Amino acid sequence: MAGKKIVLTADRSLMTNYRGNFLYGFIACGPYELVPEWVFDKVFCPPVETDPNTGEAKVAQCGLRRVEGALLRGYKREDIFIANPDMLEKCIGEDTKVVGINVMDPLGMAPVTTTMSPEKLSYIAMKFKRMCAKIIQLKKQYNFKVLVGGNGAWELAKPDRMRIHGIDTVVIGEADEVALDLFQDAEKGDIPPLLHTFVRSIDNIPEIQGPTVNSLIEAMRGCGRGCDFCDVNKRSKKDFPLERL
Ligand code: SF4
Repeated sequence: MAGKKIVLTADRSLMTNYRGNFLYGFIACGPYELVPEWVFDKVFCPPVETDPNTGEAKVAQCGLRRVEGALLRGYKREDIFIANPDMLEKCIGEDTKVVGINVMDPLGMAPVTTTMSPEKLSYIAMKFKRMCAKIIQLKKQYNFKVLVGGNGAWELAKPDRMRIHGIDTVVIGEADEVALDLFQDAEKGDIPPLLHTFVRSIDNIPEIQGPTVNSLIEAMRGCGRGCDFCDVNKRSKKDFPLERL
């Protein structure tokens, strides 16, 4: 199978519209071992609208759309594909060079998950593991690189965790400015295993080019209050001008 050159995706617990209620996203942090999977899959986290023939997701998280927007500065539209994670075999093939994954809490280490699923495998972590198992299988057939970024990327930034999940590079921070160079370098096989990066100018944050889950938009980044323990606080506070919203 030919496959798409650049495939962007996220695990199934993120590729959902949560029935229009983002509070259901907290339920995705619940224990997979105690609640039947279909309850999560069908009741709280139904899959995003997807083309059943190609596996293309019609809506995506804002973070994936942001990376897509950055890549469109250098790639053709037809080279970039946003995929439903349950249908990766429909779009990954011989021509696939890079798979980009957006993560929120891939190993279930964030506060909500450790509160709702103490000592248990959470739905969100189970779905991430299952997606990675599929990607590892596909990697054995095809020669592509796997890049991971997003708010929960820090959880994967250890060599053993990357190896287990089939990841080549973890990007921590804001990838807007470097995404295009990074994917082009990944195509050549020339990428570092770990990258910390932050946006220098709000003008360099690309505009999104497609619909987001529940029409979510990004109005600001960072926080500005300065709590020492907070990951959000690592990013400088940026407010998007009204004309960009
Ligand atoms: S820095 Fe973090 S914890 Fe503190 S107010 Fe902002 S978002 Fe909340």
